Amino acid sequence: MVDLHGQYLRLQTEIDAAIQEVITNSAYINGPQVKQFATELADYLHVPYLIPCGNGTDALQIALMALDLEPGDEVIVPAFTYIAAVEAVALLGLTPVAVDVDPETFNIDVQKAAEAITPRTRAIVPVHLFGQCCDMEPLLALAAKHTLYVIEDDAQSIGSRYSFSDGRVQMSGTMGHIAITSFFPSKPLACYGDGGAMITSDEKLAERMRMIANHGQQQKYHHRMIGCNSRLDTLQAAILSVKLKHLNAFHAARQQVARRYTEAFHAIEGFISPTEADYSTHIYHQYTIRVKEGKRDALQAYLKEKGIPSMIYYPLPVHQQEAYSRIIKWAEQPRKAEQLCDSVLSLPIHTEMTTDEQDYIIETIHRYAFN
Ligand SMILES: *Cc1c(COP(=O)(O)O)cnc(C)c1O
Repeated sequence: MVDLHGQYLRLQTEIDAAIQEVITNSAYINGPQVKQFATELADYLHVPYLIPCGNGTDALQIALMALDLEPGDEVIVPAFTYIAAVEAVALLGLTPVAVDVDPETFNIDVQKAAEAITPRTRAIVPVHLFGQCCDMEPLLALAAKHTLYVIEDDAQSIGSRYSFSDGRVQMSGTMGHIAITSFFPSKPLACYGDGGAMITSDEKLAERMRMIANHGQQQKYHHRMIGCNSRLDTLQAAILSVKLKHLNAFHAARQQVARRYTEAFHAIEGFISPTEADYSTHIYHQYTIRVKEGKRDALQAYLKEKGIPSMIYYPLPVHQQEAYSRIIKWAEQPRKAEQLCDSVLSLPIHTEMTTDEQDYIIETIHRYAFN
């Protein structure tokens, strides 16, 4: 699905030098590279505050902790997503409320979110899934109307851009009160282990999140808040600074593969290529197709037989997960999310794909679909 080694070999000189510098200086925790990377990524996103942390799941938890929500407060999450947001909400004693998604974009359906709002709703977590922004303009309007916090989950879409109706364009992860991202090795901006960050334009929230991530202290051994220990390693920060320079090129490489796929699969019956919403760019963290009812698993088995990996992101909606089925609430059963779980299939897409590899995947799928 990804070629991490191939990408390393292409960037080897830069990466090796960055790693060597950290080891030579031996400042493994909070070395100068951490601050430097945080500044560089904040500049890339055009935001004032970016606080690195241990991983994207920690980032979600720290973001929620910074908001001072009360147990039992409701947080709206998409029903079709990676589990991290639901997990952080539940861990803090808050109530996750699952809302259906738009099957065209896989992202939260803002109308359904509106219908799920109750007097206890305090926040909403738009997850920008697979590389494209949620429809933020109506979502932000809804949140403003009901005084809800917006926490963007930008783990899969960092670098995608949202266009507002007045022509304004903003980077994903810069529109809500807080955004989080992950630098897990397969993510669009990735390190060689775990890493994550919280992003905000709000100075007070930035200060609180920085404190929470550092044991709730500003001054050493003086703990003002209940916190945790969540840091980005210096080594990972050094690697990320190198990768950030290539981020737009990474996006372009995946976008080119996606264009070829979409052209090639256009006429295949029973296949639906991903939709590009007119309000967002798509960086194709995943190229996720929808396969006609009942045909997905057979296609996946066939691809496997031909040596082509594929993945089901995600096989279960959050409200059907064993750990959450009893605590999660919904206003209306998220049926579209349930249907997606039975029809989605993500094909290989990454920065190192050769034309030959793309051709092989395209031809193999054509042979299957037309037989
Ligand atoms: C990967 C991911 C996370 C969690 O990131 P980790 O760094 O693995 O904790 C959160 N949300 C989404 C949408 C993700 O894809």
